[in-house]
Amino acid sequence: MLRPTRQIRLRALAEIALSLLPGALIALLGDVVWGLAAMLAGALFQLHRHLVAIDALVAWARSPLGTPVPAASGVWDLIFSEINRRSRLMKDQRERLSMALDRFVEAGQAMPDGVIYMGPGNAIEWVNPRAEAHFGIVATRDAGAALTNLVRDPDFVAYLEADDFSEPLVMNPLRKPGLTLMVQIVPYAESRCMLLSRDISHLERLETMRRDFVANVSHELRTPLTVVLGFIETLADDDDALSREDRRHFLGLAREQAERMHRLILDLLVLSALETGAPSPTEDEVDMPELLDRVLSEGRALSAGRHRLTLAIEGPRWLRGSAKELHSAFANLVSNAVRYSDAGGSIRLRWRAVEDGVAFSVQDQGEGIEARHIPRLTERFYRVDRGRSRESGGTGLGLAIVKHVLGRHQGRLEIESAAGQGSTFRAILPARRLLSPASDEAA
Ligand code: ADP
Repeated sequence: MLRPTRQIRLRALAEIALSLLPGALIALLGDVVWGLAAMLAGALFQLHRHLVAIDALVAWARSPLGTPVPAASGVWDLIFSEINRRSRLMKDQRERLSMALDRFVEAGQAMPDGVIYMGPGNAIEWVNPRAEAHFGIVATRDAGAALTNLVRDPDFVAYLEADDFSEPLVMNPLRKPGLTLMVQIVPYAESRCMLLSRDISHLERLETMRRDFVANVSHELRTPLTVVLGFIETLADDDDALSREDRRHFLGLAREQAERMHRLILDLLVLSALETGAPSPTEDEVDMPELLDRVLSEGRALSAGRHRLTLAIEGPRWLRGSAKELHSAFANLVSNAVRYSDAGGSIRLRWRAVEDGVAFSVQDQGEGIEARHIPRLTERFYRVDRGRSRESGGTGLGLAIVKHVLGRHQGRLEIESAAGQGSTFRAILPARRLLSPASDEAA
């Protein structure tokens, strides 16, 4: 197959030859003048055709992109189809490039981090929605403006100007209170850079929680330890001066404090076992009436006759879950009801089927809780009345343990209470934790 240029050249030569041929034949047959005239006419005809085709080509070159190349005859047909082929190739290429660019932009838009492309002088060229939200800028309005004119936080401006981007910057944007961002600049090409911003507010919150937790535990341990140390010193210094009675009294008080620390450590161990990715609860087949009877007896022992505790079992017998964890959660609810109710009050324990599963509820006639405290009760060490909690042997971790245990069983805790009107704590477990009626009967 001939290459297109060769083909075009041969075709052009053939057309010239054809247009000159009649004149040449006339000249050969003896009429040189007419022959030359015919050859001239042939050449002029060719010239005219070429000029018309060139005009068409120029008009096409000036027409909008994508206009099809006009039709032509002869050699120009070959030329135009060649141009057509190339323009189609370019169009395909353009489309592929534009699709790649679209995909690139879409990926940038979908990034979970903020992205800003900047030109010389930190002029904004492109911003994704996340960066718009992080810095309070609008891509369409602010393109071309220097980012440092819009985000004026001194730390941020200094970071951009220092030109040392080996470490990221952690900042709290003035325009976005409560937000903590980690910002990293990535320079590329000449005097261009990409800014990446990540919302690390939740990490900050976790860090604050961790610090608070350590401070709380230290505080909780320090008080009883100080008391115990004081008693030990008194006993060591004045042992002879103390009567048997006083010694027994001091030892009793020291023991109370040691027990308080012991309870705290035990609760902390339970909580940390529940929190630190402990494996999902063992799937025992728990005999709920048996477990609840135990919880009731322990509650009565704690109450020591000061309250009237009753238990109504109206729900299914068998539940799949961790007997140990469920016992710890339910016992905590009963212990709270006893500890936060004055003597003489009734405490009703109830096990029954509810709409979306099964519920264990503990209703007391105790001091109740103001609505504003309720959402925070399951936070570690959150107490409404610190003094009463301590006096009654509370660690501030009971409801945090309840919440974790229920979470591990895909359940939830509901609290209904009002100050002075008693409380109802309801632990709800999902229906799928119940053993099927058939196995229930078999068991
Ligand atoms: P604590 O060891 O202090 O009892 P919890 O985590 O078990 O800790 O409970 C957190 C707080 O919730 C308690 O300090 C108390 O103020 C409140 N609370 C819990 N249960 C009851 C209840 N039945 N009645 C009144 N207040 C309660």
